[in-house]
Amino acid sequence: MMSENSSGSALPEIPHRAAVVTGGAGFIGSHLTEALIRAGVRVTVIDDFSSGRAENLAAVADSPLLTVVTADICREWRVDSAVDVVFNLASPASPPRYLVRPQHTLRTNSQGMQRVIDLAVSRNARLVQASTSEVYGDPLRHPQTEDYWGNVNPIGPRSVYDEGKRFAEALIAAYVRQGALDAGIVRIFNTYGPRMRIDDGRVVPSFIDRALRGEPLEVYGDGKQTRSFCFVEDLVAGLLEMAAAPGVLGPVNLGNVEEITMVDLARLVGEAVGRPPRVVHRPLPVDDPVRRRPDISLARELFGWRPVTGLRTGLERTVRWQRSAGLAVAGAPRDREFTAGSGNH
Ligand code: NAD
Ligand code: UDP
Repeated sequence: MMSENSSGSALPEIPHRAAVVTGGAGFIGSHLTEALIRAGVRVTVIDDFSSGRAENLAAVADSPLLTVVTADICREWRVDSAVDVVFNLASPASPPRYLVRPQHTLRTNSQGMQRVIDLAVSRNARLVQASTSEVYGDPLRHPQTEDYWGNVNPIGPRSVYDEGKRFAEALIAAYVRQGALDAGIVRIFNTYGPRMRIDDGRVVPSFIDRALRGEPLEVYGDGKQTRSFCFVEDLVAGLLEMAAAPGVLGPVNLGNVEEITMVDLARLVGEAVGRPPRVVHRPLPVDDPVRRRPDISLARELFGWRPVTGLRTGLERTVRWQRSAGLAVAGAPRDREFTAGSGNH
């Protein structure tokens, strides 16, 4: 039977009984873990807590269906119970975070990816890989379709993430081509919502945090660069669709097609917070993509999937969370490690 999450996204019937979610204590991973457990699926989370937090799993912490293993996927770890689906979400995900740990990012998406594949192969489990729109780099084609090969600087600072994720896709595709693995690759475009870390430098939580504190929002460059933001519950529905589609490798874009400049995003955040934003401009990070919007025709065609949460609604829900739990989680004063002007970009 199909069910819905609180956004009204239809969740597919889940054919699996036992899942592994690497990165399950993170932002997207914890929402996915919760959805699986609510559907009665046993979940083993593998997470090194480099950016994940135990609090993210608070709603299901007491469930007998949840097991949490603290481990770096690049090192020794094992899962003793049965597994019929593996979601690989473990990876540094925000630009400042992967820029300060470049080797870790490359290792996670290569050595770690290999270990995750080994698990899926040994259990004959379907693997869903969380790839990224960053594989398109600073795209020369707009909007981005899955057959676009991308415009990535292989030695630029972002390459540790972009090329890491591209390598992970290549590794998976090689196993699938040999008939050794059943896997699906989803290319996730900017996703936001409750539980996204306020201190990891990504634009939505950073803008909301500053707006709530009455501080100027830091817009990098002239703010005319665009992104398309997908609410996390819509994204989770897409991940579950990919899991429930054996034999589909993709890659399949998952994201919202509503495209917005960072200046307009600042304005919308101001409206969601209820205070007109003040804006200051900071230098644009190296290789920051100019435009990004997914073409999601393939996801519609394969799964009938599309996001149902508009940006205003999603921002309001995220502001509510950041106002209550968010600021309490981050604590004050704010961790400034990853904010603009730190030189990390
Ligand atoms: P996140 O930082 O909240 O989650 C990543 C999780 O992986 C964290 O819990 C972290 O502790 C864990 N992790 C990192 N390296 C690990 C390792 N070596 N071993 C074990 N655990 C490790 O970020 P997120 O936004 O939830 O991203 C989840 C996945 O989705 C990532 O793979 C990311 O690349 C992908 N993605 C996210 C977005 C987005 O906009 N949020 C866009 C594209 C792709
Ligand atoms: N950005 C910004 N201010 C911030 C954080 C980010 O203007 O405080 C910009 C950033 O330069 C990029 C866009 O917002 O153009 C999205 O950045 P994010 O790090 O969230 O994601 P990504 O660059 O991976 O798309």
